[in-house]
Amino acid sequence: MKERLEQLQVEALVKVEQATDSKALQEVRVAYLGKKGPITEVLRGMGKLSAEERPLIGQMANDVRAAITEKLEEKEAQLQKAEIEKKLAEESIDVTLPGRPVQAGTRHPLTAVVEHVEDVFIGLGFEIAEGPEVETDYYNFEALNLPKDHPARDMQDSFYITNELLLRTHTSPVQARTMEKYKGKGPVKIICPGKVFRRDDDDATHSHQFMQIEGLYIDENVRMSDLKGVLETFAKKFFGEERNIRLRPSFFPFTEPSVEVDVSCGMCNGKGCRVCKHTGWIEVLGAGMVHPNVLEMGGFDSKRYSGFAFGMGVERLAMLKHDIDDIRHFYTNDLRFLTQFTRG
Ligand SMILES: [Zn+2]
Repeated sequence: MKERLEQLQVEALVKVEQATDSKALQEVRVAYLGKKGPITEVLRGMGKLSAEERPLIGQMANDVRAAITEKLEEKEAQLQKAEIEKKLAEESIDVTLPGRPVQAGTRHPLTAVVEHVEDVFIGLGFEIAEGPEVETDYYNFEALNLPKDHPARDMQDSFYITNELLLRTHTSPVQARTMEKYKGKGPVKIICPGKVFRRDDDDATHSHQFMQIEGLYIDENVRMSDLKGVLETFAKKFFGEERNIRLRPSFFPFTEPSVEVDVSCGMCNGKGCRVCKHTGWIEVLGAGMVHPNVLEMGGFDSKRYSGFAFGMGVERLAMLKHDIDDIRHFYTNDLRFLTQFTRG
């Protein structure tokens, strides 16, 4: 019986050593230490032994069991470590591999233009103001010196929702609303970027929806020369230092006097070319001194305060800056077009 136990121990230890995974190890455990295993069998047969032999063999069987168990645990730990190492090796990341490029979007050219213009005017001390796109007739027209039946209303064909509500035809109502907020106390120095809507047939240069940026500066002693200085600074910062502006007389109901503002052509430097229709100048915006009626309706004393206002089309600025020939490119979301623009 002693030889049998010694033999079992040797056999079991060899098999444990040979096991290559935890499943094989489990099989060895069941085969040698299980209820139907040979060691249990030896212990069961102890009844037939003499009283002197019994404790010796019992002790030995326990020693063999302990030796096998110890070896099993040792082997199991070893296998587990190997498995973890194998897994780590399989899942390792080569940090020296170049990454796959991430497809990043670009700013929409109109957004880029709005941000550029905002940056220029914030640098000149202006704040940004916003207002609703669905506007009342009062703020869109009346507060801007355009009473009902005024013929100049025909200049802006409108989308009416009710008799008193419409989609704003320009961003000027934001100026009227802002003036009210200041309760007759200057200075007011704002620009208002936003969407506007007009009943135009869409073509290469017209869209029923487009964007404007308007500016308003009210204070004591604001003069036409201030308007010219601000717009000249804007033109140089936006189009380039070599560009100049000129003012031509014009008419808007909300300003008096009113001017059209041209910037010198960047293609020919003022010599005349196809882009500027051989005039050397390109029309970019409308402006003027705020009409006394508009000041009064906005709650400002027109004898004490004066101001200037200007308005420009964002699409037109973007078309001039990037030499784009059709306004519809901005709205059709063609990636071949849109990905050409990054801010800079
Ligand atoms: Zn030109």
